This record gives sequence, structure tokens and C-alpha cells, in this order.
Amino acid sequence: MRAEVVAIGDELTSGERLDTNTQWVSKQLTDIGVEVMYHTTVGDDLEANINVFRAAIARADVVVCSGGLGPTADDLTRDAMAAAMGVELVRDEASLEHIRQLFARRNRPMPEKNEQQAYFPAGSTPIPNPHGSAPGIHAQATKPNGGVCHLFALPGVPAEMFEMYTASVAPSVAMLDEVKRVIRHRAIKLFGPGESQLEAMLPDLIRRGREPRVGITASAATLTLRITASGADESACLAAMEPTVRQIYGAAADFIFGEGDIDLHNAVLQLLAERGETLASDECFTRGLIATWMAEDDPQHQVFAGGQLSWTMMDVSAAAVAVRNLYGTSYGIAVGPATDAGEVEIAVAFGDKVVTERHHTSGHPAVVGPRIAKCALNLMRRNVCRD
Ligand code: AMP
Ligand code: MG
Repeated sequence: MRAEVVAIGDELTSGERLDTNTQWVSKQLTDIGVEVMYHTTVGDDLEANINVFRAAIARADVVVCSGGLGPTADDLTRDAMAAAMGVELVRDEASLEHIRQLFARRNRPMPEKNEQQAYFPAGSTPIPNPHGSAPGIHAQATKPNGGVCHLFALPGVPAEMFEMYTASVAPSVAMLDEVKRVIRHRAIKLFGPGESQLEAMLPDLIRRGREPRVGITASAATLTLRITASGADESACLAAMEPTVRQIYGAAADFIFGEGDIDLHNAVLQLLAERGETLASDECFTRGLIATWMAEDDPQHQVFAGGQLSWTMMDVSAAAVAVRNLYGTSYGIAVGPATDAGEVEIAVAFGDKVVTERHHTSGHPAVVGPRIAKCALNLMRRNVCRD
């Protein structure tokens, strides 16, 4: 069962406003096992909207769109839906009465324009909107291959859209025959290899069409392997993922620092907290990034005792030892300046040892800082337990 989420409005296509409805709806659909295959955003233009609906009806089984249901001239969703389905707009008396009463309760006459919100593509059903004047629309459109596409149109106002989706769309979608499955994800976090290097380590895992599906994403040098499985219930999904998870741990264990919504510094904080150990930092090239991350996620400073930012650093190993002594911590981490050769030295002091590494500083400036900071944290992580 494939879904398409459509967002309608000039304010979205012009970049003036961020389309948050699509993200929210997609998450809801995914959680109940409907695979979202397309996101479409379209401006307030009738022709363009008709084309969008025609394409969506042809390629999706469920379409949820938001926006363009208001009473003004730029609200074209109902017209576009009717045109794409080849039906007329017909008046729904109950909806008209609802709109009339809404204005009566506000002691205002109903503008003629609002009557348009009581018109629906023939054969469709209104979706109640308890808090606004624009009802939604549920239509069953016929696909070019004769199948049925369920079209749900909701107002753009996020609060109204959330409420109507939850009360009316979610139960309707859940009743459709094929939605008897749930989808679950597991995210394995890695640091060290590049994306293509990781893919090469897991040759047939990233293959298209594989079940469960595995995808790689990179964010500020942290890699995520996202495993997606569908099944009758949560435990079936988890069981289906297990062999894949084992395969990933088997091939890339050294690079894996955790699972779920965490980054490397969270993994280091957790590891040290479990061992009752502490850390201090002295950073040159990374300008306090490690300290910022640590301070943010260790507000009680149980692990991260403190950090300093240095503009120069003559001896990186000595700096790691010095900051460790200064704060009296189990570990001291130091990040040196960039050398003329385009490298940064990092050092971790613990017990009576200091380990060092050198890393190149090439890459986009937005990523180099975080990458070097993570290299230092990773050097730290790999050496915990080794004194
Ligand atoms: P409309 O239903 O098109 O009249 O939109 C009503 C309000 O909802 C406007 O303020 C829009 O900016 C807002 N809105 C419409 N679509 C979205 C969307 N996809 N994400 C966030 N806000 C939206
Ligand atoms: Mg609009």
C-alpha cells in the first residue's frame, strides 16, 4: 500500500513557510504500516493542482493533502479534486448548516464566499472540522488501472489538520484491507568509515528491494544504518530485523557506538557514567565543540568536569595530561591546531598513558570541526577500559 502526501500553497512553494504538515502526516502513516512513496508540494494554481491529483491518484493508494480548502479565490483543492476525478461539485446541506452555525455563534453574518466550503466532489464524504469552517474531504477516486485511491483533503492550519487526521483519517486508513501490518525501525550508529566504505563492508545489505530494508545516512560524520521491517506486530518486526542486525555487528562492530537517537558524545558520556569515570577537555581546532556537546548533555556535570578553549597548543599530549591534572579527571582530551600539512593532532591522557592520532582537515568547513571532535571522542571511546 503506497501513499503520497501533498502540500498545497504558494507560501510553501515560495519558501516563505516551511511545510511541516507533510512531515507529520508521513510519520503517522509510516507508524501504521503505510509506506509513503511520494511527497509533492504545489502552489495555488488550478492546472498544477489537477495535474498533481491525477498523478497521485495513478501512483498511490492513499493520498493525504493539506491546504487550499479555505473560502478565498486561491483555495482550489476542491475544484482540482473534482476535475481530476472527472466529477461535479455538489452542495452538502449539513456542511453548509455547520458553517452557518459557526458564523452565527460568532455573531457574524456568513460571507457568501464561505458557501463554497460546503461543496464537495460528487460521491465524496465531508470530514468534520470541529474547530474551523473548512470541512475536509474523503473521496474514492478510480485509478487508471481500475483500482481505488483514497483521497483525503484536510485544511492547512496545522492544529486543525492534526485533529482531523487523528479523528477521521487515521481510523479510515487503518480499516483499509492491506493495513494489517506495522513498520518498525532500528538505527545503528557508527563512526569512522565513510559511507561508501561502510557500504563495501556490507555488500548485499544495502541492496534495493531487500527485506528488511537497510539504508545509510550521514550527518556531521556520524553514519546511521537504518533497518526497516514490516510485520504483523512489533515483535514480528524485531524478529525479522535480528539476523540483519547480527550481520551488521559482525561486519562493523569496531565502528558501532550505539543505537537510536544518540551521537558519539552521548555514547562516551554513558560509558564513563557507567564506570564512574570523568573527563576534561582542551580544544584548539574544534573551538570548544566537545565541551559544548558534553555540557549540553551532562548538565549535572557528573562525567564532564570542564573544558577550555586554547588558541595555540605547542604540545598536544602535554595539553591532554595538563587538563586532566587541572580538573582531576580520569581522562583528558586535547585537540591541537591545524598544521601546515593540513592535519590535526588529537590526544587522550588516561592512567599513565597518552594515546595520539592525526587526522586530515579536508572536507566542507561545516563538517570538519564536528568530524575532528568526533575523532577525538572516538579515540577516547576506543581506549576506555585500556588502562
Ligand atoms: P490553507 O488551508 O491553505 O488556507 O492554509 C491555512 C494556514 O495553514 C496558512 O497559514 C498556511 O501557511 C498554513 N499551512 C498550510 N499548509 C501548511 C503546511 N503544509 N505546513 C505548515 N503550515 C501550513
Ligand atoms: Mg492556502
